[in-house]
Amino acid sequence: MNSTKGTPLSEEDFKRAVKEITRPRAVYDVAPGEAYSRFFRGLKEGKILGTRCPSCRLVHVPPKVYCQYCYVPLTEWVEVKDEGYVETAVVVYIAAERERLETPEVVGVVRLEGSGDEYRFPGLMHRICADPDDVKSMKLLGSKVRARWAKEKQGGINDIECFEVVQWK
Ligand SMILES: [Zn+2]
Repeated sequence: MNSTKGTPLSEEDFKRAVKEITRPRAVYDVAPGEAYSRFFRGLKEGKILGTRCPSCRLVHVPPKVYCQYCYVPLTEWVEVKDEGYVETAVVVYIAAERERLETPEVVGVVRLEGSGDEYRFPGLMHRICADPDDVKSMKLLGSKVRARWAKEKQGGINDIECFEVVQWK
């Protein structure tokens, strides 16, 4: 017996235990705010944008409007490369909608390269088109990746389909 699967309820048991089933009918809209709105407009144009701190010179990607280290407003926008290095990665077996994935995916944080400044903080979390075995063996960590852009962009994070390995560590 597989102890991790639990004991499923029969349809009859479920109806006895749950008296009323309601489905949420909330209609909502999301206002991403100044920084993320501009970030998404940039993605639609195939650009990854960040904000540079005038004090510590860190470039924040995804962009922020305030530096959490220096407590100063960030008003300088910069475009960073769509290439970088895998800082960390995990294999996921469950989709964002909480359904079991038929094929596991790799998700990780990519530290993007810039032009001049050496560090992009904190890095972009995204799907990485890699084999789960490359995560388990740690081969993926530190490898160079590049964004695979969607052909039709919508102005959202999925305008980048995933990051693909261009050079193994
Ligand atoms: Zn700063």
